[in-house]
Amino acid sequence: MNSGNTEHIKQIAILGSTGSIGTQALEVISEHPEEFQVYALTANNQVELLIKQAKKYQPEIVVIANTDYLPRLREALKDLPIKIYAGADAIEQVCESGPIDIVLTAMVGYSGLRPTLRAIKAGKSIALANKETMVVAGEIINELAHKHQVAILPVDSEHSAIFQCLEYANPLEKIILTASGGPFRKFSLEELRTVGREQALKHPNWAMGAKITIDSASMMNKGFEVIEAKWLFGLRPEQIEVVVHPQSIVHSMVQFRDGSIKAQLGLPDMKLPILYALTYPRRLETHYPRLDITQIASLEFEKPDLKKFRNLALAFTAMDEGGNMPCILNAANEVAVEAFLHDRIAFLQMSDLLEYTMDKAEFIKRPDYEAYTCSDQQARRIAQAYLDKLS
Ligand code: MN
Repeated sequence: MNSGNTEHIKQIAILGSTGSIGTQALEVISEHPEEFQVYALTANNQVELLIKQAKKYQPEIVVIANTDYLPRLREALKDLPIKIYAGADAIEQVCESGPIDIVLTAMVGYSGLRPTLRAIKAGKSIALANKETMVVAGEIINELAHKHQVAILPVDSEHSAIFQCLEYANPLEKIILTASGGPFRKFSLEELRTVGREQALKHPNWAMGAKITIDSASMMNKGFEVIEAKWLFGLRPEQIEVVVHPQSIVHSMVQFRDGSIKAQLGLPDMKLPILYALTYPRRLETHYPRLDITQIASLEFEKPDLKKFRNLALAFTAMDEGGNMPCILNAANEVAVEAFLHDRIAFLQMSDLLEYTMDKAEFIKRPDYEAYTCSDQQARRIAQAYLDKLS
């Protein structure tokens, strides 16, 4: 039975609708037409998929970031009453549209920061799937969200798990963030030296976009999630522990002051955290496959190997140093992943590049928004120069 509020259908904007989270969010939304409507869709380059989505979901607005595709988008949708825009500025403006209730930020990387800031300033709830926004500028995001009384609802499965464990609960002692360990969990350092792009793109448990799949293989993703958790849940660094849990059934845990631990479990499917971010604090009935706990032979947990997965250690370093250091790390990592995907550097060299950039970029203890922009650009230049020297 639907126990919910039926007088208001939530209007959703999906930034990055053609990506993995975006497409799954559209499925979730279409499964609950009594709850949600798609108000706006934005994409970077995948114009054909965006056209298909626009025809199917009939949003008010679609935006393509790459302006080269504007004519194609206009032509394809000319018979529909859909407003069509192009460019990064248009994406930011769309976030402010009056009827939107929730902005789901599912784009990749640093590009999520500005639109998220604009959406918060316009008083929109944020369903946060773009973790880089929190990694780069969590402090500013939190201040703004507080000022504008805006909720930041986590979509990342681990953070959704923690969020769910925290309901009606006392202050936590620490969180235990689970990590699948990725495809290279059992590889030796020697074996990691020669892994290639194709191997790294095969994640054992989760189907995701290329950037986050590489970040998962290197455990950079887990490092970013540590920083994301710090800002989402107001934690001190020592309150965040990472454990490798290869089955990806326990999505994360919270330990309370009396030592009790709560965990959230489920099959590895992003639809559940997406749905919960959109309906919080309610839970809707779903027909998603159920976890049969008797079918799971065992649940394993082990400490991560920080010598093999240096990116995770670098994320802890960046979090401890604070200021613009996570922003520098994120920028260097975007350059590193791009280079790895183009066979310009080896898997382990990505960590060298991050370390080098963190060392060379100017450290700023209390950055404002402009300082983040400068740091991001400076770190990319430093990382690029390092790459150019290699080749
Ligand atoms: Mn995650």
